[in-house]
Amino acid sequence: MSVLYLATRNFGKVREIQALLAHLPVDILSLKDLPQAPEIVEDGETFAENARKKAEAVLALTGGVVLADDSGLEVEALQGEPGVRSARYAGEGAADAANNARLLEKLAGVPLHRRSARFCCAVAIAAPGQETVVAEGYCRGIIALKPRGDRGFGYDPLFLIPAYQKTFGELSPDVKNRISHRSRALNQVLPILEKLLG
Ligand code: IMP
Repeated sequence: MSVLYLATRNFGKVREIQALLAHLPVDILSLKDLPQAPEIVEDGETFAENARKKAEAVLALTGGVVLADDSGLEVEALQGEPGVRSARYAGEGAADAANNARLLEKLAGVPLHRRSARFCCAVAIAAPGQETVVAEGYCRGIIALKPRGDRGFGYDPLFLIPAYQKTFGELSPDVKNRISHRSRALNQVLPILEKLLG
């Protein structure tokens, strides 16, 4: 069976990507399975730059087919913050709960109709002898006034999907995986993955 390396240690992302690629005949390994992998500094100014950097670093390490995901939340009222700093909004190594608390603090007093946001995801596919390919997906929503639900990861309990009147923290993984920024980005590179791993 072919192997696909995921250039992430984020268990929430790994779980979602595994579900989204469940139909492919591949063994999926992440950086948790590669203890020798160095820390990859995410110093790009865009999700696409960071995804490309992570994918190419893990290709150099493994020589195999790699999928990297760089993602985050852009809030209109905060001029696109936290953006590429989503994972470390409340400081380096911050827990999800601390990042969520910081976001709520920054939006204190902002009414629901001015709390529009979008999740962004850039995925990069790197493989030996191939040009790296990057694709992006987005999902629009509203930042809730307080956390709701305990599913998912990251900012999910604060990300309200108006069509369902529920946050990603409340919606089932199946529904999230149908409409998420991650599934929209992954769907674009599926034909490439199928060719590389099929
Ligand atoms: P990075 O891609 O590792 O730089 O970090 C992405 C960060 O963005 C995560 O740690 C989360 O805080 C946030 N994020 C990205 N995608 C999602 C999602 O699907 N749900 C909730 N938070 C997300």
